[in-house]
Amino acid sequence: MIKEDEKLKKIKDEVVACAKCPLAFFRIENNYFPVIGQGNHQADIVFVGEAPGLTEAKTGVPFCGAAGRILNELLESINIKREDVYICNILKDRPPENRDPQENEIKACLPYLKRQIEIIKPKAICTLGRYSMKVIMEEFGLSSKLNSIGKIHGKIFETDNLKIIPLYHPAVAVYNNNMKKSLKEDFKILKTI
Ligand code: URA
Repeated sequence: MIKEDEKLKKIKDEVVACAKCPLAFFRIENNYFPVIGQGNHQADIVFVGEAPGLTEAKTGVPFCGAAGRILNELLESINIKREDVYICNILKDRPPENRDPQENEIKACLPYLKRQIEIIKPKAICTLGRYSMKVIMEEFGLSSKLNSIGKIHGKIFETDNLKIIPLYHPAVAVYNNNMKKSLKEDFKILKTI
């Protein structure tokens, strides 16, 4: 086991036992899994979505439903293998009815994500969707650069040897081919990482 595996396993154990917000109890009541993250523990690129949906909570795997199929297609379009990147979310547990994450939930869960990022040490974090964009850009000192996702998607923001790249959430492309084209264009930039 490489040292990253051990450290990430410790985070997994902590999340499984976490009782810091009501979503953990919602998970237990419904026999869901927490969705910690999946992929290469030394990845150059970490994708950060918003929160697990129903399919993810039933399997423990991030982005394995309809949005995940789009994400897979986008990765394929630039010849990057899903197992070579790391995929996770701001929240580890599914919010009821897939509602937006709440402040207390983000506050409780964010320390786990920050530790995951510190362990993996990626060159770039790609945020998926506006929630993830806001949380990550604020966390990495880029609040002054925040704008609507329509304005800053696909742009690279540099901070402390780390690139932050806001991207649209793949779910927007499930029924919208124009959004898929726009995402495909933005993904091309990842080849330069
Ligand atoms: N949407 C997300 O933001 N994350 C997932 O894991 C799945 C869907």
